[in-house]
Amino acid sequence: MKRREFLKTTAAAGGLAVASGTVSAYSAETPAADSEIHPSLRNQPPLPYSFDALAPFLSEEQMRFHYEKHHAGYFKNLAGLVAGTSEAVKELEEIIRTSSGGLFNNAAQAWNHSFFWNCMSPDGGGKPPETLLRAITAAFGSFENFTEKLTEAAVKWFGSGWVWLATDKTGKLEILALPNAGTPVSLEKGPVLTVDVWEHAYYIDYRNERAKYVRAFMDKINWKFAGMCYEARNSVRWPVK
Ligand code: MN
Repeated sequence: MKRREFLKTTAAAGGLAVASGTVSAYSAETPAADSEIHPSLRNQPPLPYSFDALAPFLSEEQMRFHYEKHHAGYFKNLAGLVAGTSEAVKELEEIIRTSSGGLFNNAAQAWNHSFFWNCMSPDGGGKPPETLLRAITAAFGSFENFTEKLTEAAVKWFGSGWVWLATDKTGKLEILALPNAGTPVSLEKGPVLTVDVWEHAYYIDYRNERAKYVRAFMDKINWKFAGMCYEARNSVRWPVK
């Protein structure tokens, strides 16, 4: 698929198949050599924009290291871990829900990053779509208060991890700060938005200044994607197939 066609596809589907009620993060292209391994475990989804599209928020160099070294590395590790085992035929989401240790870490990191790329957009920022905005206001009092809470959670989180906006089993929104490869996928919660607070996510551009990175992230949030994720959770309860 050419990049232009891919961009059109991801613009329609939000990069992940949320519209159909699932959040499935893999491409359909399947290299023949690894045919015994499920595509979701070995096919890193393409970035939904070019490497320099988010600059100056994130430089091309920062994005290339993050996507081509870190994210690609998790897929490589994952394929290696499942090769020749009964896990190889499972979908990524199933492995995340049923594994622990190194297998969970690599599977969750593979999924989390695929989701994270879609949470940002060159045209990001502004406010969420109406339905999500209403839910945010109901849960946090106001959009401004929510932004403050999310920023604070991401800036203050100690060590590596992910800060999420997610729905609980009743559909209510909450902010979750999770360590390491932590993900709502294994917690029976519905992911709506995430910010990667691992140092590798920002260190090339921001060095030690995570707060600057987090504040700049707020102006690049892809609210359209978050809105689609929220709608999917609202109509189809997590976990969805
Ligand atoms: Mn990362």
